[in-house]
Amino acid sequence: MSTATLSGVCPECETDLTVPALVQGETFSCPECMLTLRVEGIEDGQLRLSMVEVQLRDWGQ
Ligand SMILES: [Zn+2]
Repeated sequence: MSTATLSGVCPECETDLTVPALVQGETFSCPECMLTLRVEGIEDGQLRLSMVEVQLRDWGQ
Protein backbone atom coordinates (compact mmCIF):
# COMPACT_ATOMS: atom_id res chain seq x y z
CA MET A 1 0.00 0.00 0.00
CA SER A 2 1.43 3.33 -0.97
CA THR A 3 1.22 6.30 1.26
CA ALA A 4 -1.61 8.49 0.19
CA THR A 5 -0.54 12.05 0.33
CA LEU A 6 -1.54 15.00 -1.72
CA SER A 7 0.36 18.11 -2.53
CA GLY A 8 -0.70 21.62 -3.20
CA VAL A 9 0.37 25.20 -2.88
CA CYS A 10 -1.00 27.65 -0.40
CA PRO A 11 -2.76 30.42 -2.34
CA GLU A 12 -1.68 32.94 0.26
CA CYS A 13 1.97 32.30 1.05
CA GLU A 14 2.74 29.90 -1.83
CA THR A 15 4.24 27.33 0.48
CA ASP A 16 4.35 23.83 -0.92
CA LEU A 17 2.07 21.70 1.16
CA THR A 18 1.99 17.95 1.53
CA VAL A 19 -0.97 16.66 3.40
CA PRO A 20 -2.53 13.30 4.12
CA ALA A 21 -5.33 12.36 1.78
CA LEU A 22 -8.13 14.83 2.06
CA VAL A 23 -11.45 14.90 0.41
CA GLN A 24 -13.08 17.70 -1.47
CA GLY A 25 -14.64 20.23 0.85
CA GLU A 26 -12.32 19.54 3.77
CA THR A 27 -10.50 22.37 5.40
CA PHE A 28 -7.13 22.57 7.05
CA SER A 29 -4.75 25.26 8.21
CA CYS A 30 -1.66 26.24 6.33
CA PRO A 31 1.28 25.60 8.70
CA GLU A 32 3.04 28.71 7.43
CA CYS A 33 0.44 31.45 7.41
CA MET A 34 -2.20 29.71 9.51
CA LEU A 35 -4.82 30.56 6.97
CA THR A 36 -7.73 28.19 6.68
CA LEU A 37 -7.75 26.51 3.29
CA ARG A 38 -10.50 24.50 1.70
CA VAL A 39 -10.03 21.72 -0.80
CA GLU A 40 -11.97 22.78 -3.86
CA GLY A 41 -10.90 19.83 -5.88
CA ILE A 42 -8.16 17.31 -6.51
CA GLU A 43 -6.49 16.87 -9.87
CA ASP A 44 -3.84 14.20 -10.34
CA GLY A 45 -2.81 14.32 -6.71
CA GLN A 46 -2.62 18.11 -6.73
CA LEU A 47 -4.89 20.00 -4.45
CA ARG A 48 -6.83 22.95 -5.69
CA LEU A 49 -7.11 25.17 -2.67
CA SER A 50 -8.97 28.29 -1.81
CA MET A 51 -8.82 30.55 1.17
CA VAL A 52 -11.73 30.37 3.52
CA GLU A 53 -13.06 33.71 4.51
CA VAL A 54 -13.28 33.62 8.25
CA GLN A 55 -16.72 34.67 9.27
CA LEU A 56 -16.04 37.64 11.42
CA ARG A 57 -18.78 38.79 13.59
CA ASP A 58 -20.34 42.04 12.55
CA TRP A 59 -20.05 44.10 15.63
CA GLY A 60 -22.99 46.23 14.61
CA GLN A 61 -22.96 49.88 13.81
ZN1 LIG B 1 -0.01 29.69 3.69
